[in-house]
Formats: sequence, structure tokens, C-alpha cells
Amino acid sequence: MAATSDTPAQAPFELAPEQRAWCARLRALGAVRLSPLAAGGEPGRVNLRLLEELGDLDLLARAVPLPGRARNIRALELCLLRESLAYSCPEAETALALQGLGAGPVADAGSDEQRARWLPAAATGRAVAAFALSEPGAGSDAAALTLRAEPDGPGGWRLTGTKTWISNAPYADFYSVFARTGEAPGPRGITAFLLPAGRPGLSGESLEMLSPHPLGTLTFDAVPVGPGDLLGEPGRGFGVAMRTLNLFRPSVGAFAVGMAQAALDASLRHAAERPAFGGVLRDLQSVSHQLAEMATRTEAARLLVYAAACAYDRSGGAGADIVRRSAMAKLMATETAQYVVDAAVQIHGAAALRRGHLLEHLYREVRAPRVYEGASEVQRSLIAKELYK
Ligand SMILES: Cc1cc2nc3c(=O)[nH]c(=O)nc-3n(C[C@H](O)[C@H](O)[C@H](O)COP(=O)(O)OP(=O)(O)OC[C@H]3O[C@@H](n4cnc5c(N)ncnc54)[C@H](O)[C@@H]3O)c2cc1C
Repeated sequence: MAATSDTPAQAPFELAPEQRAWCARLRALGAVRLSPLAAGGEPGRVNLRLLEELGDLDLLARAVPLPGRARNIRALELCLLRESLAYSCPEAETALALQGLGAGPVADAGSDEQRARWLPAAATGRAVAAFALSEPGAGSDAAALTLRAEPDGPGGWRLTGTKTWISNAPYADFYSVFARTGEAPGPRGITAFLLPAGRPGLSGESLEMLSPHPLGTLTFDAVPVGPGDLLGEPGRGFGVAMRTLNLFRPSVGAFAVGMAQAALDASLRHAAERPAFGGVLRDLQSVSHQLAEMATRTEAARLLVYAAACAYDRSGGAGADIVRRSAMAKLMATETAQYVVDAAVQIHGAAALRRGHLLEHLYREVRAPRVYEGASEVQRSLIAKELYK
């Protein structure tokens, strides 16, 4: 598949022809190669066949920075990839994003050994990655996390506490874990670790969710970690977590835009075919206006996502406008997708609510992104803070 990573990122309002062609190929791959594998998966479990196929298609490597290519993930490319896969195979999209999220801290702050051990395996789908930040008492307020890292021997610690809502847990092969090593309050006492599965004292359980997302709780009972497990320096872990989230935030919006577009296209097809009152549904003015509203909002969300991603790429993630743009893109796109999918269900009527219908599936998928990686209210707070500067 032709790479798009060399395509300049300065044209957020219109994609280049090769970018549009790449997106079309991705949508087709999602429908033809990935959807059958997704259908064979078990809800709530990691789908290894799907993950390996994403690796074999060289798609995971666009979300997992490989050694020597670290920091080389391009936000716009990630957005186009996530939007296109979300359109035709949301499970594949999610599997890809979770690998990127879990491996991001390793690429960002891992040692050469850690990168060489885990990144190629994650990029080929042969090792499952997870990002373990949230806790029962610390979700939106992530800096309040309490997983304790208590000193144990020379340069070592023992981790005790609980992480929850962790995607891919407890089935991941390695976890980027954020724990409190110091007495410093809030973000300053937090340290990042790379924890391979199977460490003594680490256990977990799966949680059944509304969406088919694999997700669970991890329990740490004095799990030993040493200097070789550190991701970056002690006390600098919160920055590691935030840098990964900053890269991924606009692309959560892209995931939402892909689902909104799928719901819109399904509604256009349905409204053109469904007989109603001597014509078809789309002849009714209220239905046509609803379709126009859905299309307009989806396009507006898409443009915000592309603009945020291009701004990220232009500045290498360091621009003064990144936080505001990313928060606006994630907020607008996830709220829009919820609106569009709900409107699409209304246009389809009862059929959309039947188990197995595309919209029944999207209805379950579309809800969580308004909560994770910063709930909508948190994005609004971020935007306001930027406005007040
Ligand atoms: C499908 C899914 C996958 C996830 N995957 C991961 C993962 O891989 N790794 C991980 O670490 N975590 C993950 N999470 C957890 C996710 O990051 C948290 O759910 C999120 O941070 C919100 O935390 P919370 O659920 O504890 O809600 P809370 O923090 O309790 O917030 C509840 C609600 O309170 C309101 N609220 C909170 N803060 C504010 C504020 N400042 N201003 C105004 N209102 C506010 C919002 O309405 C918010 O939705 C996942 C969650 C889901 C649903």
C-alpha cells in the first residue's frame, strides 16, 4: 500500500488525490479483509487474528512508532487511517488505536532495549499493548492516581493498587503503567513503567461493556519493578502519558467522524429506498433536512479534526495551539457522531435497533469516545483555559 507519510500536511481543507485514494483503499480493506475477521472475534476479548492481519497489512506500524522511526507518527495520517477503518470496520480501528496508545509511552520514553523488545512485536500484532492510567478513584483527574510504587531494594519498587477501564486488559502482553513513586502531589510524583504481563502479583479481570471493546481491571499486589522497567525518569511519568494522549486526541475525533460518515451513508441509501406515503422517505422535507444537517455537522467535525492533526504535524506536537485545537476536534467530532448515529437510527426506524444491524453496532460503539481520553466536559474546560490565557 502506498505510503502517505511524505504528503505535506499544510492543506487541511482538502485532501490530496493520493490521500483520498489511500482512504478509499483502507475502507475497502476494512470491508473485505478485516470485517470477516472482526466478525469471528469474541466480544470483550482481544482479537489476535485481526491484530495480526493489521500488522501484516503494515497498518499497525503507522500507529506504533518503530525503533529508529520514533516520534515519526504523523497525526494526519493516523486520523485518515482511523477515520477510514472506522467507516467499514470499527473493531479493526479500535484494535489499531489501542496498540498505538499502549506502545506510545515506550516509543516516547523507553530505553533502546525496551523499544527493540516491544515495538516491532506491537507493530506486527504479535504483542498486545495497553495503556494503564485510569483508576477507580482517578479518571478525569488522572493526576490524582494512587497506584503506589514503594521502594524495594536497590533502585527497585513494588506496585500496589488497582487500575481500571484499561483497554486490552487483562489480555495484553505489556502495559505502560503510571504509578506514584514520590510524595510530590498531583502530576509531579508520577512515574511510568513498562510492565510485561506475567509479573508475580499482577492479576486482572475482564469487564463486559456496552461496546465490544476488550477492557478490564488490573490488580497489583506488590508487583516488583526495577530500573530496567522505567519509562523515562522517576517523577516524569505524567508528561509521558500526556504526550501519548496529545498525539492520539485528534484521532479519537477521526474515529468518530468515520462512524458518523458510515451512519450518514447508510441513511442516504435507506431514505432513497424506503417507501413512504406514496414516495420514498427522502422526499419528506423533514427527512431531507435531517440528512443535510447530519452531512453538514459531519463535514464540520472532519475539518476540525484535519486542522488539529495538521497543526500537530506542522509543530511536531509542540505548537501553542495544539491543546485547544485537539480538544475542539475531539469534542466536536465525538458529540457530532453521537448526534448523527442517533439521527440515523431514527431514519431507519425499528430495523436499526435489531441486533446485528450496522446502526445497532454503531450506536453501541459511538458512546464511549465522549467519555474516554478526556470526557467532553474536560475538553470544554481545556478549551476555556486556553481562551483565558
Ligand atoms: C471504552 C473505554 C476505554 C477506556 N480505555 C482506557 C485505557 O485504555 N486506559 C486508561 O487508562 N483508561 C481508559 N478508559 C478510562 C477513561 O479514560 C475514563 O473513563 C475517563 O478518563 C473518565 O473517567 P471516569 O470514567 O472515572 O469518569 P469521572 O472522572 O468520574 O467523570 C465522570 C463525569 O464527570 C464529569 N466531569 C469529570 N471531570 C469534569 C470536569 N473537570 N469538569 C466538568 N465535568 C467533569 C464528566 O461528565 C465525566 O464524564 C477507558 C474508558 C472507556 C469507557
